[in-house]
Order: sequence, then structure tokens, then C-alpha cells
Amino acid sequence: MDIKVGDVVEMKKKHPCGAKTMKVLRVGLDYRLECEGCGKIIFAPRRLIEKNIKKTVIAAPNEDGANK
Ligand SMILES: [Zn+2]
Repeated sequence: MDIKVGDVVEMKKKHPCGAKTMKVLRVGLDYRLECEGCGKIIFAPRRLIEKNIKKTVIAAPNEDGANK
């Protein structure tokens, strides 16, 4: 699975606030996600997050620019 900073992902389990989509703020060994519903920041190990992601809803544009 290829998750990048700036992606918006849909989770299998929804957040207690009811939202299912989260924005990716940081990737690495730990992922940091921001709930699109309530704005809460979630920190979790990569493995856990990847297991819980259903799909990418909005892919972030490529970092090295334009229309690659
Ligand atoms: Zn939430």
C-alpha cells in the first residue's frame, strides 16, 4: 500500500465521531492521521494503520512537482 503525506484515506473502522476519512500528516514507522470529522490527531504504528485503511479517497499530488 502506498500512502503519502497529504492523502485522504478511508478507514474500515470509523472514528467515534462518525467520520470515516482521515488525512495523512506523517508517514514512517508511525503514522499520524487527522480525523476529517473532529480534527483529532491519531498516532499509530504503520502496521496497524495499514490494516485499517480501506482505500485512498484523495491522493496527494506528487511532491516533486507538477504533472508527473
Ligand atoms: Zn473524529
